[in-house]
Amino acid sequence: MNRYTKNNLSKEVQAKLLTSKVLVCGCGGLGSGVIVNLAGLGVGTLGLCDFDRVEITNLNRQFIHTNANIGKYKSESAKEWINSYNPEIEVITYIEPVSEKMLEGFDIVVDCTDNFKTKFQLNDFALKMSTPLVHAGVSRNRGQVMSIIPHQTACLRCILDENEQEESNSGVISPTVNLISSIESLEVFKLITNPENALLNKVLFVDIKEYSFKTISFSKNPHCIC
Ligand SMILES: [Zn+2]
Repeated sequence: MNRYTKNNLSKEVQAKLLTSKVLVCGCGGLGSGVIVNLAGLGVGTLGLCDFDRVEITNLNRQFIHTNANIGKYKSESAKEWINSYNPEIEVITYIEPVSEKMLEGFDIVVDCTDNFKTKFQLNDFALKMSTPLVHAGVSRNRGQVMSIIPHQTACLRCILDENEQEESNSGVISPTVNLISSIESLEVFKLITNPENALLNKVLFVDIKEYSFKTISFSKNPHCIC
C-alpha cells in the first residue's frame, strides 16, 4: 500500500486494483504503454499475450523492450521489465495467439493488437466469455478508444464493419502511440473503479495533427451478429 500512496486513491479502490487481473493482448506499441501504466496503478495480476519477438524497429516506441532483448519473445521481455519494476506483480505469459479460453479468470481484456482481424476476434471472444474489453487502435496521426461491457453496451461489430477496415502497418511515432495507450489504461482504471465514466456506447477519436478529441455516441446494433 505504501508504494501506491501517491496514487492518491482510497484504500478500497487501491485494494480493488491490487486484486484485479487484466489480460493485455499485444506487447508492442500500445501494450508497452498499457503494461507500464497498469503496473504503476498497482494492478495485481497481468496476463501478457504476444508471440512476436523483439526487433530493432520496435525500439522507437516499445519502451519496455531494450537492445539486450532483441530476438526474445515480447511477452517474456515485457515480463522481465515488470519483474524489475515490481516483483510483487503476478505475471502470466502466453506465447501463442489469443484464444477464447485465455480470457478465463481475467476481469478485463485490453486490445493492444495491431490488426483488425485480431481486434474483431478479440471482440468476439470477450462477448462469448462476458469479459469487459478495452479496444484501441492507432495509425500515423490518429487513434481511437472505446470500452465494451459484453451484452450491455455496443461492441466493435455494432459500430464497425470488419470488411471496411483498412490495415495500416506503416508505423507510428512514440508520443502518438503513448497518448493512445495512456487513454486505454485510463479506461481499464475506470472499468475497475467507476465504469459509468468509461467510454461505453461511445468512441473517442483522437487526431494528433489537429489536436482534436471527439467522442461520438453509438448504440447497440440490434442486428449485430454478436
Ligand atoms: Zn455488437
